[in-house]
Amino acid sequence: MPANHDLKAQRVFIGLGSNLAEPAVQVKRAISALAALPQSRLLQQSRLYASPPLGPVDQPDYVNAVVEIDTTLEPVALLNALQGIEQKQGRVRTRHWGERVIDLDLLLYADVQLASKGLTLPHPGIAARAFVLRPLAELAPDLMIIGQGALCDLLAARAGDVCEPLNQVQEIV
Ligand code: ATP
Ligand code: CA
Ligand code: CA
Repeated sequence: MPANHDLKAQRVFIGLGSNLAEPAVQVKRAISALAALPQSRLLQQSRLYASPPLGPVDQPDYVNAVVEIDTTLEPVALLNALQGIEQKQGRVRTRHWGERVIDLDLLLYADVQLASKGLTLPHPGIAARAFVLRPLAELAPDLMIIGQGALCDLLAARAGDVCEPLNQVQEIV
């Protein structure tokens, strides 16, 4: 394996979600932390979206977004860095798919396909989640999700799901 400084920067998409402690603020704070990651540059960020929870319904709605970075961090190092940001923002693990201050999912890392204990790439939930597909399509509408399909087809299949751009005026009232 070559040393990191020999690696070409890789195109990566990260999904963000929060439904606790001022979710929009949490998502923006995490985007700032992503922009400050070593060996990485923030390239694009989507608008913020509002969506109902996945899993248990007795929890607040979520604020979601997707960002694109390029990075020479390797996948596991990047996942560790994402978990470091989650911890810094005070994420506490409760029930499966339960409420959280911040969740950072590594959606796509270039065209890497991986199924290890701690990391699956592409993230296996992309196709089923409008709150990932819609912000992702803002950034890269022509994307192909290896093993899941063309983003435009996946979006069409979830067309009936609730997930709308957050009204930024409402957000600050
Ligand atoms: P989901 O993964 O279905 O969105 P979740 O985000 O609630 O659920 P977490 O509790 O945040 O799940 O993460 C559980 C584990 O998933 C993490 O400890 C991590 O090792 C693993 N994981 C596997 N693949 C990925 C990935 N692509 N991005 C982030 N975490 C991943
Ligand atoms: Ca998640
Ligand atoms: Ca996660």
